[in-house]
Amino acid sequence: MLSVDEALKLILARAQPLAARTMALADVDGLILAEDVASPIDSPPYDKSIVDGYAVVAADLATGEARLRILEEVVAGEVPRATVTAGTATRIMTGAPIPAGADAVVMVERTSHHAHTDAHHLGTVFIRDADVRAGRNILRRGTSLCAGDVVLRCGAPLRAIEVGILAEVGRAVVAAVPRPRVAILATGNELVEPDQTPAAGQIRNSNGPLLAAAVRAGGGDPLLLGIARDSEEDLRARIASGLQADVLILSGGVSAGVLDLVPSILKELKVAEVFHKLRLKPGKPMWFGVAQREAHQTLVFGLPGNPVSSYVCGELFVRPALERLAGRPGHGLRRLRATLARDVQQRGDRHTFLPAVCHLSDQDQARAEPVTWHGSADLRGLTAANALLSLPPGDRVFHAGEIVDLVLLDQA
Ligand code: AMP
Ligand code: MG
Repeated sequence: MLSVDEALKLILARAQPLAARTMALADVDGLILAEDVASPIDSPPYDKSIVDGYAVVAADLATGEARLRILEEVVAGEVPRATVTAGTATRIMTGAPIPAGADAVVMVERTSHHAHTDAHHLGTVFIRDADVRAGRNILRRGTSLCAGDVVLRCGAPLRAIEVGILAEVGRAVVAAVPRPRVAILATGNELVEPDQTPAAGQIRNSNGPLLAAAVRAGGGDPLLLGIARDSEEDLRARIASGLQADVLILSGGVSAGVLDLVPSILKELKVAEVFHKLRLKPGKPMWFGVAQREAHQTLVFGLPGNPVSSYVCGELFVRPALERLAGRPGHGLRRLRATLARDVQQRGDRHTFLPAVCHLSDQDQARAEPVTWHGSADLRGLTAANALLSLPPGDRVFHAGEIVDLVLLDQA
């Protein structure tokens, strides 16, 4: 049986970034940019005022005081017409272009305005400011970027900031790596959907919604395919439809029970098995394979049915694969080292992931404490956890105070 690390390597070797697509700016946040973006404009595109005040000739304020005749008033969005000369000023608002002739702007707080009796004149302004030098309160054209500058490189993660700069340089559409489309199919005769009341012998399908949420958190676009019954016909039809997606996640039906038909149906549908069963707890029965039809590839994950096993396998294997498909270079797991808060007994030859609470504080090393948990069907116990303790195989006690590895889970 493969180890967890060997399994992850085999998966990542088959997860290539999806082909880039041209997308509307409103749809690209959270994605990876798939082109270099050069600006066709200078920014700012003109010399502009960064305060509300008066555009002046700085030399007029050499003594720290002046009375100037007001030529016009310019707000952002307008273009000044008059040239400022010695003895004159233009009333200007933040963001408006600097008029010709002016080389500084005095803040309105340092001025007092005197209206003129003649309605055709804007009056005069008295300025007292000992600190007016050429360039004061002017943001020069091209300060932030010049036409031709590459503002974002291919491969850049697109956050709100990058969406903003794309808008600034006029990129309403841009090439990005799309979200992987992930079909999710729960299997099991005992399952009913969450809005149904289970009859005797039935339970609700928690894995479908759980995996859809995990896929979304991992940057994928989930598509719930409902529940397949443990019959060859139903599995065949639903799995075939799931193979249209970039990734198909199945839950249940991969163990050794008489109705665990998933591996044989996958084989029949020409999904090439890469591995089945891992030295992992929880998650031993996990299955992984690849379907290749012409140019289209689907990564197929057969996760064990128990909800905690499904979730853990999703975090350990599906999430890193989704990141790779989405063009992200990392391998998805947020690992951390922490001091163990109490003794933990590890037994057997399987890499074990135990739900734990990780206490993070600024002062000291993170501290990890296993939560009360009753095994792979105990999803409720997992709700107290924000991390998984990662304990390598072998019989031994991990002692309180030891430094151990953790995988951090999504934080609320
Ligand atoms: P299986 O892997 O199909 O043998 O299922 C293992 C255990 O997980 C059984 O107790 C199933 O009832 C349970 N199980 C399977 N699928 C789901 C699901 N979608 N939601 C909740 N529990 C499930
Ligand atoms: Mg089953």
